[in-house]
Amino acid sequence: AALFAPERVNSRGWDLSEPRHLAQIEAARAPFAQHVYHAAPLLAGSAAPQEARPVHDPAAPDLVVGDVREASPADAETALAGAAPWDAAPKERAMILERAADLFEEHHGEIFALLAREAGKTLPDAVGELREAVDFLRYYASRIDALDAPARGVFTCISPWNFPLAIFTGQIAGALAAGNGVIAKPAGQTPLIGHLAAGLMLRAGVPGTALQFLPGGGEIGAILTREKRRIAGVAFTGSTRTARHIQRSMAEAMAPGTPLIAETGGLNAMIVDSTALLEQAVRDVVISAFQSAGQRCSALRCLYVQEDIAEEFLTMLRGAVDSLRPAHPWRLSSDSGPLIDAAAHEAIADYVEGAAAQGRVLHRGHAPAEGYFLAPTIVSIPGIEALEREVFGPVLHVARFASGKIDAVIDAVNATGYGLTFGLHTRIDARVQHVVDRVTAGNLYVNRNQIGAIVGSQPFGGEGLSGTGPKAGGPDYMARFTRPPAPDGVQ
Ligand code: GLU
Repeated sequence: AALFAPERVNSRGWDLSEPRHLAQIEAARAPFAQHVYHAAPLLAGSAAPQEARPVHDPAAPDLVVGDVREASPADAETALAGAAPWDAAPKERAMILERAADLFEEHHGEIFALLAREAGKTLPDAVGELREAVDFLRYYASRIDALDAPARGVFTCISPWNFPLAIFTGQIAGALAAGNGVIAKPAGQTPLIGHLAAGLMLRAGVPGTALQFLPGGGEIGAILTREKRRIAGVAFTGSTRTARHIQRSMAEAMAPGTPLIAETGGLNAMIVDSTALLEQAVRDVVISAFQSAGQRCSALRCLYVQEDIAEEFLTMLRGAVDSLRPAHPWRLSSDSGPLIDAAAHEAIADYVEGAAAQGRVLHRGHAPAEGYFLAPTIVSIPGIEALEREVFGPVLHVARFASGKIDAVIDAVNATGYGLTFGLHTRIDARVQHVVDRVTAGNLYVNRNQIGAIVGSQPFGGEGLSGTGPKAGGPDYMARFTRPPAPDGVQ
């Protein structure tokens, strides 16, 4: 399949260096600075009454952003009973998804406000996330014509809090574009933005039987991933551990071959060799490791710097880290927001204290004392094999490697079993090809940062422990949501 759909263009987005755009955004989001949101299940049937639970601002936990009535197991049963594939003609599905994209863009002020307040997203991150959500809607809509197989039925879509709009929408749009129905469960931390997004898709014309929204925790996820009659497949983005758990329940309950489309974690590395342009490499390391407070699957976790430039590089890196100013994401000057919740904050703060006790913390930047902020931190390690798991926050591990040892570094990275993103900074052209050929990772980035894949031109997804594929925002994604033709002679 052609990678590019030339007739389609990505969202223009908003240029934050353009004062008119910025003034427009500030005016558009201002009415939502203190709005109190209410989220509840959106069902094809009536919801059982539940107590509402408050949702707090992770950058200022005393502030209430809204509340959510989570789905009960009875609501999950109602959703399953009412769910149906989306039987509209392909052209109509495309039109409705396009309309949803337009509605998302029209509501940018509210979306940017809620992404800041519920998910701790800085304005540049929120702008990137809205663009990506819109791009998913339009990209999958543009590929409906190319589909040559029928929908599978109804998909369960389970999405993470770190891209509560883009990944939430991307899974749903992929499934819907192919003609499936969807029951979507947002992450427990971000039900409000999910509710807003699902509401806009319904307003655009997606029928209530084809898209239902079930905010809730693991209990709801468990019901939706072990239901054998009505669920035809599962799309999941989140931890490798949860993906394994889902795979086990699906294997026990569902027909063999029921698809699981999983995008999971990573232990992402970058190599900076002694020919790299250091100023650029420092900048790209800082973005890769610390933008979004390191809460991206794609984020850089383990940097390998060639020994002979390591001291100079680390001096520059410390300086760059010192210039970062995490702050409440509503503030335009904020370089990054908080961790998503108290549990994440505690776990990662403990991890950093453990590293400090072993004398391995090389540097710590700044962070506000209020809210779940954590200072960007550099931790030294001998190599990636010392990392037991992904540390999903602003912690960059740094290792050194000797000249001539690049293959050993790549082998160690491959040996983790993960394969999501990989970065390389070098000015040796032959090395680029060598590394590209040897590394097993879904997305490889050369002489740039390693986050922020772009729908349609940089499909995103990993190998091994990092996911099942197909890549999101790529030409193969939707096919997995369709029923492949039976082999010849099989009915
Ligand atoms: N697609 C995002 C990126 O390229 C990462 C998605 C994730 O964190 O799940 O940065």
